Amino acid sequence: MKFLVINSGSSSIKYQVIEMATESVLATGLVERIGEAVGRLKNTFYPGTERERESVLEQAIPDHDQGMRLVIALLTDPEQGIIGTTSEITAIGHRVVHGGEDFRESALITPAILDAIKRNIPLAPLHNPANLDGIRVAMEIFPTVPQVAVFDTAFHQTMPPHAFMYALPYRLYEQDRVRRYGFHGTSHRFVAGECARLLGKPLAECNLITVHLGNGCSMTAIAGGVSVDTSLGLTPLEGLVMGTRSGDVDPALHLFLQQNKGMDLESIDALLNKESGLKGLCGMNDMRDIHKAVAAGDQRAALALNVQTYRNRKYLGAYMAVLGRVDAIVFTAGIGENDAIVRAESLKGLEAFGIRLDPEKNGQRAREARCISRSDSTVQIFVIPTNEELAIAREAATVVSR
Ligand code: ADP
Repeated sequence: MKFLVINSGSSSIKYQVIEMATESVLATGLVERIGEAVGRLKNTFYPGTERERESVLEQAIPDHDQGMRLVIALLTDPEQGIIGTTSEITAIGHRVVHGGEDFRESALITPAILDAIKRNIPLAPLHNPANLDGIRVAMEIFPTVPQVAVFDTAFHQTMPPHAFMYALPYRLYEQDRVRRYGFHGTSHRFVAGECARLLGKPLAECNLITVHLGNGCSMTAIAGGVSVDTSLGLTPLEGLVMGTRSGDVDPALHLFLQQNKGMDLESIDALLNKESGLKGLCGMNDMRDIHKAVAAGDQRAALALNVQTYRNRKYLGAYMAVLGRVDAIVFTAGIGENDAIVRAESLKGLEAFGIRLDPEKNGQRAREARCISRSDSTVQIFVIPTNEELAIAREAATVVSR
């Protein structure tokens, strides 16, 4: 059983082929710069094993269809490929960013499902059309293979109204579905499941705070295994301080910028999404560069680190209050998995809440999921690598076996 996972962006396609029996990755890659003069396909067969083989192809890739066909040619290459024909793919899982209120779980793609994804385009005008491109192309190339849509928002559809409603005129919700949706749901769900396993309890009995810190950052309060609040909102801009996204700001900032800087809404949107966050504060958005700069005495880099970790702490406190009892806090994604300093700073001063980090365990580097709290910590603290592709493949497996 080989599953193909596709994450189609506006000018890129990320993919993985996973052997489901062993959950091992047979191939992973990225097609990028689709539509530009020179596109690029980077593929790795058997990543992380002795048989690992990497290849890079650079040529014009005019559209997603051409991009996907290049990938298929590589996967079925008689000499080095990992499948003989496209019929060896059992199912395809697609990442879809926004399922709005239509999807509480993953769905087998049918014409009605495609219509529902289209209906949600106003909520994700950049992402959903790109995801639909990936689905359309895959359906053409693999007409008989079941395809499953896995939504970033679905895990958060369990939030109660008092958590998902903004205090805005109610008609904006009734007419336009303006509310908190939350994102990174596939990642939060995945690490929550892994955490329950490590705690040795059914997920339905776990109260968790999952902290996804990558380029995008979000935190989720999970009660009895389901999402009850999350920091990203109507769009993936609210909440924590991210690589280039601001997270929370005063909504009246828009008016201030318009009146005082003459900025229009498009440029304010670009400012908040692309020029803010860590990058806005110190000019760098990769945490590794920020640490180097802090070590060299860069005050702005230190400020950026402090602003991010303080915001994390503030949300942790908020979600402790939301949940009452917390079994574990889970750190995941690029920063969450690798950055002992960010974890320690984010948890600083929370001892009174029963949160006690073990500095030695926190400082150890490992690829595996691990506990980093002291034995006397009432809230356990874990680092759990996220694996969104595997999570999508597992979701697809569940849906096709129904
Ligand atoms: P995405 O949200 O794009 O999936 P990732 O989860 O891969 O992002 O996280 C990417 C970020 O993780 C990088 O921008 C970088 O700041 C951070 N990161 C990656 N490796 C490390 C590391 N060893 N130490 C600290 N931060 C890291």
